[in-house]
Amino acid sequence: MKKHNFNPGPAVLPASVLQEASKAILDYQGTGLSILEISHRGKEFVDIIEEAISLTKELLGLNEDHHVLFTTGGASSQFFMLAQNLLNAGDTAAFADTGTWANKAIKEAKAYGNIKVVNSSKDKNYSYIPKDFSGVPADARFLHVTSNNTIFGTQMQTWPEVAMPLVCDMSSDIFSRPIPIEKFGLIYAGAQKNLGPAGVTMVILRKDMVRTDLTHHMPPMLDYKTFIAENSLYNTPPVFPIYVSMLTLRWIKNLGGLEAMEKINTAKANLLYGEIDANPLFKGTVALEDRSKMNICFVTDNEVLENEFATDAKNAGCINLKGHRSVGGFRASIYNALPIESVQVLVDTMKEFARKKG
Ligand SMILES: *Cc1c(COP(=O)(O)O)cnc(C)c1O
Repeated sequence: MKKHNFNPGPAVLPASVLQEASKAILDYQGTGLSILEISHRGKEFVDIIEEAISLTKELLGLNEDHHVLFTTGGASSQFFMLAQNLLNAGDTAAFADTGTWANKAIKEAKAYGNIKVVNSSKDKNYSYIPKDFSGVPADARFLHVTSNNTIFGTQMQTWPEVAMPLVCDMSSDIFSRPIPIEKFGLIYAGAQKNLGPAGVTMVILRKDMVRTDLTHHMPPMLDYKTFIAENSLYNTPPVFPIYVSMLTLRWIKNLGGLEAMEKINTAKANLLYGEIDANPLFKGTVALEDRSKMNICFVTDNEVLENEFATDAKNAGCINLKGHRSVGGFRASIYNALPIESVQVLVDTMKEFARKKG
């Protein structure tokens, strides 16, 4: 039985994408070679990466001012790479502290510049998005935000009004909704939540962010300029993750792009939050206005109920629902590729659980 996979990452991929990818593993388009065996410098792969870039540009409304790069090392490596590329010693940057991932980004950036943490929701275990950006220093080169906090289940529903470019960790909600692209100087995302398999990270970099005046040593593999100059082919890139990401981007385009994707995501989130709010045995953990449409956290009153529901959900084929240890309870990750039918199965299981206990 195909499971309803609520894993926070690596996450569910579209069934049609998996089918096409599995064919490509055996024989890529009649070449007699597996996608895993083709040259990263041959025409087949160059076509794939070019299509991935052009789909990204089309879906997000990018223009000639943007580079689309593919790096390795995960979003976690961007925490230091972005700071290393955007800051000289003595430069200032502002960061919003909205959870575990934001904290890691802050910690790494501190090695490269003066980092000002302008707000934080730590006081309430990161259960809301702080919205006061008045403390952003005028000379900050950028403001770093995390658009969706995968662990705590909060998501920015409005964007900060600041003079400087946003640098955004969009790992868990990229391509889930339209964004005002003009606000962003840099966007990065590990692929394994909303885009593809683990192993590749997408970096969208606006040209005016690229610095030619860095004073510290930059190893070529950590320098955005290398990725720009070599079209992300300086060394052997993760061919298969880029290929599957490209297939997912095609899938999003065929659905109608990011507006359509957002409608579907809103319908799925409303369905689940509706049940959490109506069901006497469950409650949400975050501020209503900051609820994530990607990672939905909810809890019960006590451990007995929690364990019983975990068993019922598992029996219904709903897996990987355990909340992160810092929140507890349950977390349903309902990324782009999770069908609404899977959310419905979870909701039905919650309803039945309440009836049984009622
Ligand atoms: C998963 C995640 C990361 C870490 O991604 P890796 O690719 O595993 O390094 C960083 N930020 C956010 C918001 C995430 O959800």
